[in-house]
Amino acid sequence: MSDLNTHCVIAGGGPAGMMCGYLLARAGIDVWVLEKHGDFLRDFRGDTVHPSTLRILDELGLLEAFLKRPHQKVTELVAEFGKDAYKVADFARLPPPADFIALMPQWDFLDFLCEEARKFPTFHIAMDAQVTELLSRRGRIAGVRVKTPDGTGDLLARLVIGADGRHSTVRAKARLKVRELGAPFDVLWLRLPVEPDDPQHPVFRFVAGSLFVMLYRGSYWQCAMVIPKGGFAEIKAQGLSGFQARLRTAAGFARDRAEAIKSFDDVKLLTVAIDRLQSWARRGLLCIGDAAHAMSPVGGVGINLAIQDAVATANILSPVLAKKAPSLRRLRRVQRRRAFPAHIVQRVQVFVQDNILAPTMRNKTTPKAPLLLELVNRWDWIRQWPARLLGIGIRPEHVRSPAVRREPRPGDSAPT
Ligand SMILES: Cc1cc2nc3c(=O)[nH]c(=O)nc-3n(C[C@H](O)[C@H](O)[C@H](O)COP(=O)(O)OP(=O)(O)OC[C@H]3O[C@@H](n4cnc5c(N)ncnc54)[C@H](O)[C@@H]3O)c2cc1C
Repeated sequence: MSDLNTHCVIAGGGPAGMMCGYLLARAGIDVWVLEKHGDFLRDFRGDTVHPSTLRILDELGLLEAFLKRPHQKVTELVAEFGKDAYKVADFARLPPPADFIALMPQWDFLDFLCEEARKFPTFHIAMDAQVTELLSRRGRIAGVRVKTPDGTGDLLARLVIGADGRHSTVRAKARLKVRELGAPFDVLWLRLPVEPDDPQHPVFRFVAGSLFVMLYRGSYWQCAMVIPKGGFAEIKAQGLSGFQARLRTAAGFARDRAEAIKSFDDVKLLTVAIDRLQSWARRGLLCIGDAAHAMSPVGGVGINLAIQDAVATANILSPVLAKKAPSLRRLRRVQRRRAFPAHIVQRVQVFVQDNILAPTMRNKTTPKAPLLLELVNRWDWIRQWPARLLGIGIRPEHVRSPAVRREPRPGDSAPT
């Protein structure tokens, strides 16, 4: 990558970065997305595309094309406590066409966004491009240093967006203060085979010592075992047969398939963190998505909050970004708009992990369902509310940034 000058550079091609890149390019802004990996192919990333994101795709006229990609539709969530099943949320009661959760491998979703973004002449993406440093000029962030297989280059920009996830280099280099909220658990991801008589809805199974989540993926079950933080080493020390025995206890109707796990290479550990930045912005720099507020997997909302951040960013910044660098005040408007929903979700996640997950992991017997769940299970109409909270969330965003289709102008990404 040679040295370039652009309107906006985005570090990270995850859900936040790709959607933000798409929306800014759609508004005619010259934007570079830099992704450190060579492709989007990472297994066991969050794959839940919630109604809030489906609504955004619908507003952009992309929903029909998106739903042509292989996916599974989830219309209700069920929690199992021992042999008892409780219906928790009914998405079919939400307004169509966003009345379900789409389960789609994250690489397909990101690939789709990338393909659509490339239709705009001002969208540029560099894969295998790792942001390693921030560049400063006269007290403001003025660009990034990028490492690629061909060498190192500098990219100058009116605005740098850090969308590089929960281990963000950008926020570390900008010395933005992080507040850790802590997460007492980790997640083990694995796959189990599907059989013809299996149910097809997701299952959340509370058993003695663990929560086991099963997501139906057509040809396999994507399973998540919630374990105490740092507990994987102990599980490994007990050997594969010990782990298979644990799986048999947790996997319900799939208990006879534990042998499908042939070694610990079939099990992927994902460490969970919940944190947030005190300030999302500095002059010339804004962090969004997990870089601003790392989410736990509880509720499967992280991708969708990242997308909402991207929409708010484009709504607030695109009116100025084509003309000049946005002021710090304007950058802080993004935080003022999005911090509230992110903090509420994090509070709920911390509540769930402290009051439901931690006691479940300590329990030697299968826990009893909370009374609230009994009520939600009994009355159909109540189940639209958990679906609304989970699927649409607080302060949902709508696409307001204009769509400008134009040919590239001289000076767009011209070498400096
Ligand atoms: C175990 C676990 C399970 C989860 N399951 C779900 C789920 O089912 N549903 C859900 O909605 N959320 C889930 N989440 C949360 C979700 O993954 C995140 O909230 C979401 O991915 C955040 O999106 P993002 O774009 O901000 O960051 P990320 O998805 O982390 O994307 C950041 C991107 O930046 C790239 N990058 C990093 N550093 C650099 C750099 N220096 N230069 C260039 N590129 C860089 C990375 O390669 C990555 O592609 C889960 C989280 C965990 C920990």
